[in-house]
Amino acid sequence: MTLALAALERLQTIPDLTVQTGALLGNHTRFRLGGACQALVSTTSEAAYLAALGVLTGSEVTWTTIGGGTNLIVSDAGYPGLVLQYNAKTITVDDAGVRVDAGADLNDLVDFANAHGLAGMEAMAGIPGWVGAAIYGNAGAYGQSIAERIEWVRFADGAEVRQFGRAECEFRYRESIFKRNKGWQILSAGLRLEVGEAGVLQAKSASIRATRDAKFPPTMQCAGSIFKNLLLRELSPAVAAQVPANVIREGKIPAGWFLEEVGAKGLAVGAMRVADYHANLVYNTGGGTAADLVALLSELKRRVFDRFGLEIEEEVQFLS
Ligand SMILES: Cc1cc2nc3c(=O)[nH]c(=O)nc-3n(C[C@H](O)[C@H](O)[C@H](O)COP(=O)(O)OP(=O)(O)OC[C@H]3O[C@@H](n4cnc5c(N)ncnc54)[C@H](O)[C@@H]3O)c2cc1C
Repeated sequence: MTLALAALERLQTIPDLTVQTGALLGNHTRFRLGGACQALVSTTSEAAYLAALGVLTGSEVTWTTIGGGTNLIVSDAGYPGLVLQYNAKTITVDDAGVRVDAGADLNDLVDFANAHGLAGMEAMAGIPGWVGAAIYGNAGAYGQSIAERIEWVRFADGAEVRQFGRAECEFRYRESIFKRNKGWQILSAGLRLEVGEAGVLQAKSASIRATRDAKFPPTMQCAGSIFKNLLLRELSPAVAAQVPANVIREGKIPAGWFLEEVGAKGLAVGAMRVADYHANLVYNTGGGTAADLVALLSELKRRVFDRFGLEIEEEVQFLS
């Protein structure tokens, strides 16, 4: 019996754990790309999730985690191991603040905070995906990011369940300590929000969602912005001098500016295409492959490097 089969047999004995063998990951990614994994293992029970981690941690079995699959590239060959998905979705509030499970939809959290007159999340309306991954990648938009609101994050590090305060999470632009420690599993988080007016917060979120829906239609098979924006302070003076002042926002230069300069708009490999109206948006026009997507991203990176000597970095995550 292979190690994975032995592990699967043990996982199948854990109550409240769903084990779906041969799950097609293309059904779990917004790009609609990706072959099968050995099994998709999911649960809304923290006890069951920790029990599954207990089986896998320290074993030779290959495993990884996904959330809502909105920021993922999975290879056409699929994933040669087990894929975990923690689906717990509870959101509560008391005097200590808001508590949220990692599997809650980020948009449900925004709506919850807005409805309770709690300010600080409203500009994140419309960012797809789940809270765990939002913390992992420090998701944000329109001047807000989840890092600013985090009080604590509870996670499993393989040996034990621990809790970090915000500073220990080492958040930076689209970065956190969780991104650098791939096996760590975010379970829940506490957020500290400010007093606001529900109607005002809801109106702001509605307006942002309308703007975002025009840019990223809800049915578009994509990952949002595909490359990270660039921090002005990290650019060489020679490159920074070429960037018009009106392009710089909050110390960042959109990767789209560099991409547009190298003629990215409309570029395609197979069915994977750069949007005509947004040089940092790559989407699957239908029937695309991960191989085409990777080839297109390589071409975009090559062009920016050849012209600016700059290595742009994917915001999207490769399932590994
Ligand atoms: C149309 C569109 C617009 C977008 N706009 C924005 C935007 O404005 N701002 C922004 O920041 N992002 C944006 N994104 C990217 C995406 O929404 C975020 O990165 C989101 O946080 C991903 O959530 P997910 O649950 O889909 O994660 P997934 O894509 O499933 O996973 C992403 C990563 O998180 C890890 N992960 C998932 N759950 C856990 C967990 N519990 N513990 C540890 N690691 C975990 C996975 O291993 C993976 O590496 C956009 C995406 C789309 C499709």
